[in-house]
Amino acid sequence: MITAKPVPRQASRWQRELAQAIGDPAELLRELDLDPVLLPAARAASASFPLRVPRGFVTRMRKGDPDDPLLRQVLPLGAELDEAPGFDTDPIGDRAALAAPGVLHKYHGRALLLVTGACAVHCRYCFRREFPYTESGAGAARWRPALAYLRDDPSLREAILSGGDPLSLSDRLLGALLAELDRIPHLERLRIHSRQPIVLPERIDDVLLAVLARTRLQRVLVVHANHPREIDGTVRAALRRLAAAGVTLLNQAVLLRGVNDSAAVLAGLSEALFAAGVLPYYLHLLDRVRGAAHFEVKESEASAIMETLRQRLPGYLVPRLVRELPGQPAKTPV
Ligand SMILES: *Cc1c(COP(=O)(O)O)cnc(C)c1O
Ligand code: SF4
Repeated sequence: MITAKPVPRQASRWQRELAQAIGDPAELLRELDLDPVLLPAARAASASFPLRVPRGFVTRMRKGDPDDPLLRQVLPLGAELDEAPGFDTDPIGDRAALAAPGVLHKYHGRALLLVTGACAVHCRYCFRREFPYTESGAGAARWRPALAYLRDDPSLREAILSGGDPLSLSDRLLGALLAELDRIPHLERLRIHSRQPIVLPERIDDVLLAVLARTRLQRVLVVHANHPREIDGTVRAALRRLAAAGVTLLNQAVLLRGVNDSAAVLAGLSEALFAAGVLPYYLHLLDRVRGAAHFEVKESEASAIMETLRQRLPGYLVPRLVRELPGQPAKTPV
């Protein structure tokens, strides 16, 4: 986990929004009219993984409600400091799976590039909260070994940009990376995993759309929303622009206790996503990372929720419930 860099002098609107993200728990509590009694725990839990949330996302939270499902995803709680057996720092074996610096190649035909450790929001349940990112080398040069790996494996069809959040990169760096990927003849698809269209819709601006329009690769963007209230008018507008630009839009969510652990909320999420041009893709069981035990939903409960979802929704709005197990050739269906 790496925090964002200072704002460049000619910053665009999204970079200014990002620079003004809330990082002080006292300020977040004040903005939402919440009891300052929550502060000491929030400070203690943010020592190892700081609070970070864009202001636009905070405006979608309910004031005065400490259990608001959007707040729960970002507010550091004392429960994060509890030891829980089975929850550790590398729950899905990613450190062992690095095929080259910055490349995870676990599944056939697609490799995942860790292009940055920075995120616009810090999700408390994230398994990457404990991931030791290194960003050696300046600018695009840092991806040289990863690009060489992709070039040398003709079985690869798809490059997945992940992190961190790849849309934390400047348009210039992202454009340089996409140009390199374009030149690898066996690649057909580019996939970007990003939460920014949800938490920082300003990121989807003309410059980014122009960068995405330049690649010859087919483009897929997998966003990450967990609750229907994350998708407001600004998010819908951003997603519709991406869809209009020919980008296939999918969503992955994480099943989280106290956030979306009910069929009603998940059905609402699928409907809200579809209204914005996004199909639900995966619903992940929580990765058992240290500090996130209080978010866990039991597998039997998850299966019961899925059964209700299947009865309520058309099949194309039902996400696949999966978990990630180390050493498996694909995500494992539950
Ligand atoms: C999740 C993941 C992928 C993508 O898997 P899909 O099933 O294609 O969505 C690829 N590589 C790694 C390392 C992953 O963790
Ligand atoms: S879930 Fe995604 S956006 Fe949230 S902290 Fe993790 S990598 Fe960043």
